[in-house]
Amino acid sequence: MADILYIVVPCYNEEEVLPETSRQLKKKMTDLIRAGKISERSRVLFVNDGSRDRTWELISELHEQDSIFSGVDLTRNRGHQNALLAGLMTAKKSCDMAISMDADLQDDVDAVDRMVEEYYSGCDIVYGVRSSRKKDSFFKRFTAESFYRVMNFLGAETVFNHADYRLMSRRALEGLSEFREVNLFLRGIVPMIGYRTGTVEYERGERFAGESKYPLKKMLSFAMEGITSLSTKPIRYITILGFLIFLVSIIMLITFIAQWAMGITVAGWASVICSVWAIGGLILLSLGVIGEYIGKIYLETKSRPRFLIREVLDDEI
Ligand code: UDP
Ligand code: MG
Repeated sequence: MADILYIVVPCYNEEEVLPETSRQLKKKMTDLIRAGKISERSRVLFVNDGSRDRTWELISELHEQDSIFSGVDLTRNRGHQNALLAGLMTAKKSCDMAISMDADLQDDVDAVDRMVEEYYSGCDIVYGVRSSRKKDSFFKRFTAESFYRVMNFLGAETVFNHADYRLMSRRALEGLSEFREVNLFLRGIVPMIGYRTGTVEYERGERFAGESKYPLKKMLSFAMEGITSLSTKPIRYITILGFLIFLVSIIMLITFIAQWAMGITVAGWASVICSVWAIGGLILLSLGVIGEYIGKIYLETKSRPRFLIREVLDDEI
């Protein structure tokens, strides 16, 4: 018996794209079912993220016409990441594997086949990775790639050029549900789950209708969210900066004493400059130290799982 696949699609004001998206996804599903790769109980699960247009009506109609389509309606707009999580947690109850995908078909639907193959070959998480960003504008490409670099530099490990197009097995989803954080940045959390992972390359197309729900403002706040919810390294840099500035003041002091011994002095200047640097450095250093503790508290409040178990070998358990 083949495994059950759920394709989870968050939708926010997507009435323009839903008819075409549902048509293509249905075709993909029926092909896979016919080929015996996935179970007949597989579904396409649309999550309506508090849309203000007819998105939910369309989803309800689709569900009535064809039981392959299911829907989840959120009470209000909670943003892409939360909508996706809501869908994945709903799918977890009945699926063996779930693929998350955008509603605008920018993620190449044909990569689904390869993801499912990777799943059967033993991967619990399969990342969809963009092979090129040729179709993105220079601005989008530049900002997005710098984003991944800055993220990695600041200690938030993410998969390069991977957005939220990925397959997760049920046990990987169960692992994900153990992460109870409210500030959700899925791309950073999923790699923490573990298990065997694979990647599938695909070419990202353009949104075929409607407009992006991610203007620059949202993109920047998303980047900020990613960094602050995954890493406390910025605090570490403050501590280091404070230490360096304090060090400079010590070096200054030594130089001034040496100059004084040689008789080169400007009255009053050395003591003022030295204290400014020393006090500035000490303030930054103390802020950094306090920050380190706050950072620890912050990570503790997330109550992330400390480990996830793949398998236990014991007859008694
Ligand atoms: N989306 C959502 N809630 C939001 C914003 C976006 O569920 O508040 C969904 C949207 O419907 C789409 C996906 O997130 O399926 C990605 O959005 P979009 O294509 O606009 O982003 P872009 O591809 O331009 O980064
Ligand atoms: Mg898009």
